[in-house]
Amino acid sequence: MTNGLQKLRSLSAEVADLRHAADLLEWDERVYMPDRGATTHGEMLATLRRIAHEKFASAEMGDAIETARAEAAGLGDGGAAERLVEVTARDYDKAIKVPAAFVAEYAEAVSASQQAWGQARAQSDFSAFKPFLERIVALKRRYVAFFPPAEHPYDVLLDDFEPSMKTAEVRAIFEALRSRQVELIRALGAAPSTDDSFLRVPYAEADMLAFAVEVITAFGFDWSRGRQDKSLHPFATAIGADDVRITTRWVEGMPLSLLFGTMHETGHALYEQGVKPEHHRSALEGGASLGIHESQSRLWENLVGRSLPFWQLFYPRLQARFPSQLSGVSLEQFYRAINKVQPSLIRVEADEATYNLHVMLRVELEIALIEGTISVTDLPERWNAGMREYLGLTPPDAARGVLQDIHWSAGLFGYFATYTLGNVIAAQLWRRFEEVHPERDADIRRGEFRPLLEWLRRELHQHGREYRPTQLVHRITGSSVDPDPYLRYLEEKYGRMAAGRLN
Ligand code: ZN
Repeated sequence: MTNGLQKLRSLSAEVADLRHAADLLEWDERVYMPDRGATTHGEMLATLRRIAHEKFASAEMGDAIETARAEAAGLGDGGAAERLVEVTARDYDKAIKVPAAFVAEYAEAVSASQQAWGQARAQSDFSAFKPFLERIVALKRRYVAFFPPAEHPYDVLLDDFEPSMKTAEVRAIFEALRSRQVELIRALGAAPSTDDSFLRVPYAEADMLAFAVEVITAFGFDWSRGRQDKSLHPFATAIGADDVRITTRWVEGMPLSLLFGTMHETGHALYEQGVKPEHHRSALEGGASLGIHESQSRLWENLVGRSLPFWQLFYPRLQARFPSQLSGVSLEQFYRAINKVQPSLIRVEADEATYNLHVMLRVELEIALIEGTISVTDLPERWNAGMREYLGLTPPDAARGVLQDIHWSAGLFGYFATYTLGNVIAAQLWRRFEEVHPERDADIRRGEFRPLLEWLRRELHQHGREYRPTQLVHRITGSSVDPDPYLRYLEEKYGRMAAGRLN
């Protein structure tokens, strides 16, 4: 290896180590830390993150990137070193554009705003949160101004989560989704309701956890490079590709939430475990974007985990673990219950068919806030109007309406769209996999998940951040990000169920 590249790699590795240490502390904070450890943890985290940032945004790194760029061009390694330099440079250019004083002011504002949001939500009082959110929106608009003018100011925010994706592209995708999705949900609303009363009897947490472990072991979760624990909100985190941790929770009265949540986080974990070793401790480790990451969690949770072939194999096993709850419930009844569609107020509890409408509402509102076409004062009213239009529901209070999500209080503008992009991309990958592997469903019916995981590893996981999300989708499917496969999947699946058939 040449000098510049070597320097770039060694500096990146140190930065990655510091970030991994911070990630591990954050994991500990959410899994094991006693309440009063919060201050010590906060201090340690701030120090580690600051040192990592200083090291990365240093003149030394800038020089290493420039030297490495010249070296990489002549290497004849298929462009591998060039991609490493390009992605590192992209992160570097972003890191040096935002002044340290702004970063500190912003961190302080977010911490105050999150606290205010927690209290406002508990009291369902939007006016208590309003000044904090106004400050966050103003800071976000200042943040945008640190970057060269974009086609749309929201592009800059989107880029932090979905590199290179434009507001216009997101709008076009959502436009294509909106009418067909609203229509589908109206049609389903007219269908007879599904009996899912057997899910509202007591289930034992330990037995459900054991079943979930059986399922994700079959999916291919590598327990020698990962673990599972409990936390208040489920999440996945990678302390590098060889230490990938997922968490789960038990929700009283929703026995399957643990199972589907575990499948979801496993989708994220399988992606991280699949990144090739040469990307470890460099800018190329981790996932290509939040949308691509979410495509992996949704694929295992919904396209595999809520499918008929999966349950043809696993339902008798679930029944064996819960004979008193499920012995009188047929596979068809169970399948209908786990795929029940019902417009609801809360995004995180929404089903597969209504979920995107919750996301669209939020994305439209946050684009308008950043554009300045609406103000924070207008939010509750605009929120309720959107809920009526998309889902036919009016939130009874702010806690079950505009105050329900933590994202805006945390300054996460540009994040919501990635949930829907994940659903859309997952369906594109699913269809492509069936084209190259027509035995897809037959394999799942006999518990053979290896061909799917190996295909995902080869086509997607191993590359880490080498390609931009839209490039990656194009390389794998030959298409841009296209909502049609997703809409057809929903229309076919729910069309069959409405016609009284399962497949
Ligand atoms: Zn996720």
